[in-house]
Amino acid sequence: MAQAELIVDLDALVANWRALSDRSASEAGAVVKADAYGLGLAPVATALARAGARRFFVAEAEEGAALRAALGAGPEIFVFNGHMAGDADTIRAADLVPLLNSPEQVARHLEAAPEAPCGVQLDSGMNRLGLEPADWAEVRPRLAAPRLVMSHLACADDADHPMNARQLAAFRAMTEGVDAPRSLAATGGVLMDPGFHFDLTRPGIGVYGGLPFAEARPVVTLRLPVIQTREVVAGESVGYGMTWIAERDARIATVAGGYGDGLHRIMGPHLAFHAGETPCPVRGRISMDLIGVEVTHLDAPPETLELLGAHQGVDDLAAHAGTIGYEILTALGQGRYARRYTGG
Ligand SMILES: *Cc1c(COP(=O)(O)O)cnc(C)c1O
Repeated sequence: MAQAELIVDLDALVANWRALSDRSASEAGAVVKADAYGLGLAPVATALARAGARRFFVAEAEEGAALRAALGAGPEIFVFNGHMAGDADTIRAADLVPLLNSPEQVARHLEAAPEAPCGVQLDSGMNRLGLEPADWAEVRPRLAAPRLVMSHLACADDADHPMNARQLAAFRAMTEGVDAPRSLAATGGVLMDPGFHFDLTRPGIGVYGGLPFAEARPVVTLRLPVIQTREVVAGESVGYGMTWIAERDARIATVAGGYGDGLHRIMGPHLAFHAGETPCPVRGRISMDLIGVEVTHLDAPPETLELLGAHQGVDDLAAHAGTIGYEILTALGQGRYARRYTGG
């Protein structure tokens, strides 16, 4: 194998979506923004549509256009960032539903694409996107039949956080008497009380195998090819800055992959690859394109070493980098990997 391979298990992905759909008291949509969390918009969305997903969410109109091209007519595509200046043609051509999130966006939409459907995003306390209560009260009579009225929870990864109940109460108060379908829950909200589910849920990370959906099936496998294996004598160092010095003679495999592929330098000291069942620790600093891995204890030098898979998931990697699975996945999405899809 010449190139590092990122394998996406579409059967696991679909099983995760179905599990979250089963947990939802209402219909489950699917969030596929940022190239489906780095795993590839078209293959992921196509597999989810085949599994029954009918409502999709992206961040930007351009993503929506790419998604429409992949899915064809039928599924509803919502755009979280709403209606940005210059989006009207894309919104019309790709039949997108912008989630209007400020009085300016409402005005823009009614001016630039009054015949096109829209949804509304409300701020229930996160202070990121969404209409404030007073602005919502003001524009509400001008929006004939929104396709969706939604808001987003700031602390849903912690089911016990008091902010969840506060936002639920705020959302209920703001949507009292609304005819349109309502949506509040992403993955974290799906895992909480059905009172958070309303008419449509919006799972993202759980579909891709990440926390807070602890029961998720792992979706991603990543194997890096070994370029060469070398003998290092006790006292010699490996990599930039001589941060690792061999205490005894060692065998080091240099694998193709590095921080240029989303494998953050900060992970290095704690990271292990796997050869079959056997952990193989990283030695020295992660470079842009290369990583040193100790394989002294293996019977034979391996052709590839596994970084993500059954032994180590995206959230394990995230813990080594002081971050979250979301950031690991989207960083991998920038990497120079040959993507391969199984199942679906
Ligand atoms: C990203 C996002 C989601 C999906 O969130 P997950 O935590 O990945 O399930 C849902 N709604 C909004 C508004 C988002 O930005």
